[in-house]
Amino acid sequence: MSFEPHDEQPAVGPLEAQRPTDPAERRRALFPEATDEQWGDWRWQLRHAVRDAKGLAAKVPLTDDERAGLDETAKLFRVGVSPYYLSLIDPAHPLCPVRMQSIPVKAEARVRPGELEDPLGEDPHRPVEAIVHKYPDRVLLLATDTCSVYCRHCTRRRITRGGEAELTRTQLDLGLDYIRAHPEVRDVLISGGDPLLLSDERLEQILTPLRAIPHVEMIRIGTRMPVTLPMRITEALARLLRRYAPLFVVTHFNHPKEVTAEAKRACELLVDHGVPVENQSVLMRRINSDARIIKELNHACLRMRVRPYYLHQMDVAEGCEHLRTPIAKGLEILEDLRGWTTGMAVPHLAVDLPGGGGKVTIQPQYVLEHQATQTLFRNYRGQTYAYPEPEEQDCGCPYDAVWVNRAQG
Ligand SMILES: *Cc1c(COP(=O)(O)O)cnc(C)c1O
Repeated sequence: MSFEPHDEQPAVGPLEAQRPTDPAERRRALFPEATDEQWGDWRWQLRHAVRDAKGLAAKVPLTDDERAGLDETAKLFRVGVSPYYLSLIDPAHPLCPVRMQSIPVKAEARVRPGELEDPLGEDPHRPVEAIVHKYPDRVLLLATDTCSVYCRHCTRRRITRGGEAELTRTQLDLGLDYIRAHPEVRDVLISGGDPLLLSDERLEQILTPLRAIPHVEMIRIGTRMPVTLPMRITEALARLLRRYAPLFVVTHFNHPKEVTAEAKRACELLVDHGVPVENQSVLMRRINSDARIIKELNHACLRMRVRPYYLHQMDVAEGCEHLRTPIAKGLEILEDLRGWTTGMAVPHLAVDLPGGGGKVTIQPQYVLEHQATQTLFRNYRGQTYAYPEPEEQDCGCPYDAVWVNRAQG
């Protein structure tokens, strides 16, 4: 295995050289005064989050690249790391995947031509402040602008940068009014920022009126809490979320190192209470751009009953060039998974097109040739097989099964 050399990052050896650190030991070293009760309290974690260069330098021996990165990005992007996520950082290895997701490097300050403040072209699709309505039957509801950890690869920094504060009562009401007035919206994805940073009471103030809208069939909550602040997933929260079923939690693990005992407890608590959990990963250069890492990550997710959903090609967001991978890398990773391991461990590889085109999924090409009477394929091992076409080509369904199911509720 080889990594591309990079001007600002040291060369890295084989994966095995990334020695693991013991999070419990790091916790004792970093926050010796914290009792178990405090450590397990998400509000304590938030109050003690490290939010600037000085705070980080006191906890992690920073590289020159990181010091420069913190300095040069200070006015551009927020920094914030919960004590828990900080305890997962390898103090000795600059390419620790948790470290690379939390501490900026110099390259992040370099906004390149073509990089966009709004890479997914969402703003033209915001009929009201709190809503992004880009697809026919589903919307995003932007609930807050804050996070427990500010990811270096964030694509909504124009929101998490801090200009937009928590949704006001009026903005939320306008968002709900919009959904009420649009019967085609059957799926609402609550995002932000991280919506689970809101209190249970505040969450209910959003979920209750949303659930009361008859055409809203399902709700999704996009949150990194199981990864960055698993203490937030309490029994009370799991019970609360279950009351709004069908409600899915969509989380964001990027590396098997993030699947700790605490993360596992959080995900299993949700699933045990009847809240399905899906995972979306972002493919990032030198963090998880290797089929072995993605495979191990997805196996670890399935072991805690979390289903891998999307593997996202990195968006063309400001300051993220150093984390982007060529399209071919994602295809290569999928090819190393499909057939070789559990199909449920193979996510959809999605490219969210810059400028607002929306998500498209891509996959390796297994079709060799479409012929009149058969299609030629290669299988995952590279062997050729033919699939014969049926003689009858009319596929119309005269019996309207969809209508029958609807009528039965
Ligand atoms: C990703 C996304 C969704 C949800 O897409 P799915 O493919 O249904 O998961 C909805 N709205 C916006 C704006 C999105 O970016």
